[in-house]
Amino acid sequence: MDMFIKQLDPNLDYINYEINNDKCYITVASNRKEVICPFCGRSSSRIHSTYNRTFQDLPIQGYKVFITIRNRKMFCDNSDCKHTTFAERFDFISYKAKKTRRLEDEIVRLSINCNSVAASKDLKENVVDIGKSTVCNLLKKQTPVVDKKTITAVCKWLRTYPNFLVISRDGSITYGNAITDAHPEALQICDRFHLLKNLTLYVTEYLKKRLKPQVSIQSVSQEIKEVETIKQVDENRKLTLKEKYEKIN
Ligand SMILES: [Zn+2]
Repeated sequence: MDMFIKQLDPNLDYINYEINNDKCYITVASNRKEVICPFCGRSSSRIHSTYNRTFQDLPIQGYKVFITIRNRKMFCDNSDCKHTTFAERFDFISYKAKKTRRLEDEIVRLSINCNSVAASKDLKENVVDIGKSTVCNLLKKQTPVVDKKTITAVCKWLRTYPNFLVISRDGSITYGNAITDAHPEALQICDRFHLLKNLTLYVTEYLKKRLKPQVSIQSVSQEIKEVETIKQVDENRKLTLKEKYEKIN
C-alpha cells in the first residue's frame, strides 16, 4: 500500500486503511520537513495547525478509494509575504479539489465517448462516486476553447476528430459553416440549452401578445373594507378643524 501511495507523492507515508462495503479508506501523512509557501516561495517548518482533507483516487481491486491526509497549515515567516499562514499543497491534486489529477484523467478517458448521465452511472459502479455535472465540468476543462470568430480555427479543431457523426451546436453561423466544411456528412443539431432558451423567449413573446396588457384582480371583502377605511382617513385629513368639530358633534 505504501508503494501505491508513494506513486502519488514520494513525500507521503501510508498510515492505515479500512474497507467498508465497496469503499477503501486510506489514511496518509506528509513527511516533508519543510514546506514551501505557494505565495512567496520561502520554505517553512513551523506548523500552525492541522486538519483532515479527504479526496478520491483511482480504485484498487474494484474498491473506490478515499484518501484522508492530515493536512498541515504552516506559518510563513517571510515578513514581505502577504500571507502569514498557508496550507501544504501537493502536485497530484489541485488546491481544494476533491479528486486526484490521475483520477480526473481516468474519468475523462472513460467519459469522452458517451453522455454524462451514462458515464456517471458506469463510473459509480466501480470507479468513483461522481455526478453527471462533475463529469461535464471535467470534460469542459479538457475541451480547448476555439475562437468563435475564426472559421479556420474551428475547422482545424473539428478535423482533429474524424469520427464525428452528430454535432451539437448553438445558433452560431460560424460554427454551422465550420462543421459543414470539416464534416459535411455530420448531422448538426441544436443543443438543449439554446433550444430551451429560444423556446422560452418565443413562448414569452406569444403570451405577451395574447394576454391583455392589464389584468384586474378582484379584491376580497376584507381588502375592500381596508381600502374604504384608508379613503375615509384621507378625506378626514383634508377637513379643516372647524369641519372636523362639526362632524363629531
Ligand atoms: Zn509566504
